[in-house]
Order: sequence, then structure tokens, then C-alpha cells
Amino acid sequence: MKKICIYFIAFIFICFILPAILTINQEKKEVMATISENSQKDNEEDTREETQENTNMKETNNEQIADITYNYTQYGTIKVLHTQTQEIEEMKLDEYLYGVVSAEMPADYEIEALKAQAVVARTYTIYQIMNSKGKHGEASICDNSTCCQAWISKEDRLARWEDSKKESNWNKIVNAVNQTAGQIITYNGAPIDAFFHSNSGGITETATNVWGGTNFPYLQSVETSGEDAYSQYASQVELTKDELLNKLKESYPNIQIDFNNNSDIQITEYTESKRVRTVKFGNIQIAGTKVRSIFGLKSTNFNITRNGDNFIFSVIGYGHGVGMSQTGADTLAKQGQKYEDIIKHYYTGVEISEINYV
Ligand SMILES: [Zn+2]
Repeated sequence: MKKICIYFIAFIFICFILPAILTINQEKKEVMATISENSQKDNEEDTREETQENTNMKETNNEQIADITYNYTQYGTIKVLHTQTQEIEEMKLDEYLYGVVSAEMPADYEIEALKAQAVVARTYTIYQIMNSKGKHGEASICDNSTCCQAWISKEDRLARWEDSKKESNWNKIVNAVNQTAGQIITYNGAPIDAFFHSNSGGITETATNVWGGTNFPYLQSVETSGEDAYSQYASQVELTKDELLNKLKESYPNIQIDFNNNSDIQITEYTESKRVRTVKFGNIQIAGTKVRSIFGLKSTNFNITRNGDNFIFSVIGYGHGVGMSQTGADTLAKQGQKYEDIIKHYYTGVEISEINYV
């Protein structure tokens, strides 16, 4: 009877309890497996996020590295469009720069100012080629100062200098370019848009106030003393009231000015650098930059006075006022500053980088 009982218990154990224990274990294993799987997924997600972060960081680093490892070798030879003849001439970059520096800055300026101009012109050239997106078709850049930057052939340049100065002037220009060979101005590793102008009138202008759009961090307003010593500093444009009205009517046919009311012509707003932002002419408000172009003023730093039936625009400075002032560069050079200091004065937070294009 005992044996029967033992067999019966064993039978029950084998048929019901053992499978139950095994099932529980199996369930535990499954649960364990699920936990483990989830945990692995979490890890995978963490890993993915980490990988993503790493990728982002790598991309950022790559961008930074890419910025300073542009392939500049392609700029060794450039194609210049001569706007008068529409001919395209191929020349070495630095040979082109001899023609730019000698066209853009007087050779009797200080050598350090000429060197600054050479580095600025080299930077401007490379930036234009990189960003102009085929503006001049086959050509890399043109010789028009209002479009790209001025350029003059050696022959034409020499013809305009006195005999006694031809050789020394040319050598000075060549030295300014050669002694800064391979140097360009960069911000965060990329070539800057190196704007320059003739005379800032003592303070440069931010790019936004001239062209609108986004501001360039390296084109901030900076001051320079001593620019009043140059002939470009002060100028005047005088017009009769009829001349004034007719010029305005070319752009604003519906303009109406009451010349008996002195407040009908007045400057209504200035920029941070004290240039004219807007002028009220009768029923119309006109931007200072537009007023400059309508009346051919040398800059937007002006005031308007009346003398009988005539209006006089008294202007300070020459050019848009953005970036390096050339007379300012000469002033700083006279004070003993080197071209690197001059460049860093006019372009905020920049570096001078060596590139290889030969
Ligand atoms: Zn051009």
C-alpha cells in the first residue's frame, strides 16, 4: 500500500508538479530574457545616442577642420575679366594682386599699409571666387572697383607715375604682395569677406547698416584717429533747389517738397556710427545710402545746410565705411603698427592664416 502511495505521489509529481516547476523556471528565464533584452535595447539606444553625439561632434570637428583645410591650390592661377574689352586674362594670383594693390592704394602710403592692403585683396579675391557662383562666367573676378576690386596693368600703372618714382613705387607694391605671400584673413578658419574703403571719417560702419541682411561678426564699427589729414576726409556737394528736386524725382516721381518749410528737408535718423540712416524729403523718407547714390556723395556721413536757394551736403569720409579704411591703415602704419595689427584693428576677432596656392 505504501508502495502504491509512493508511485502515486511520484506519478503526480512527474505529471503535474515537475512540469509546473519547469514552466515557472521557463517563465522566469523568459522574464529574465525580456529584462535583459530591454536593458540591451536601452544600452543600444544609449549607444546610438552616444554614436549620434559622436557623429555630431565629429561633423562639427570636420567642419572646423574642413574650414582650415580648404584646397587653396586651385587659386594659384586666376582668370580676370577686363570689363572694358570683355577679354578674360589668366594670371598668377600674386601677379594679379600687384595690379590690384597698385590700383587700390597710393604707392606712397606706408609699406605696412600696403602689406595690409595686399592681404585684404588676396582674401577678398579668394572669398569672391568661392562665393561668386559664376557671376563672371568663365572668369574668377573682374577689374571693376564697384563690382569686384580695381586692377591696373603694370604698363598702365608705370605710365602714370613720375619717371623718378616708377621703379621704387613698383618695387614697393611687389614687396607688399611678396612679403605677405600665402597670407589671408580668416574668421573661424574660413576666409572673410574683406570689405575695404577709402576713408572712414574716424569710425567704420557695420555691414548691416549699409547692405542690410545678417551682420558679419568681424565687420564691427571701430574708430581710427588721424583720417582728417587726408584729402578724402571732407567734401561738399552743392545743388540748387531745382537740381535737388529733379534728382529726387528720377527715383521718386511723386515727391513733393515745400521749400518754404525748413523742416521739409531734415535728417531723421542716424546709425550707431553717426552716419545718416534716413532723411525726410517732403512727403518721403529716404535711406541715407540711397541719398548718397542719388547725389553722388562720398559717404553717408553728411549734414545738409541751406544757403539761399542752394542746398549743401557737407560729407565726412569716403566710401561705404565697412571693413578696413585705407587712409586709416596708413595712419596706423605711421603710428608704428604692423600690417597684422592694422588688419586686426579693422576686422574684429580674425586670424591671419597661411595658405598654399602655388
Ligand atoms: Zn566683378
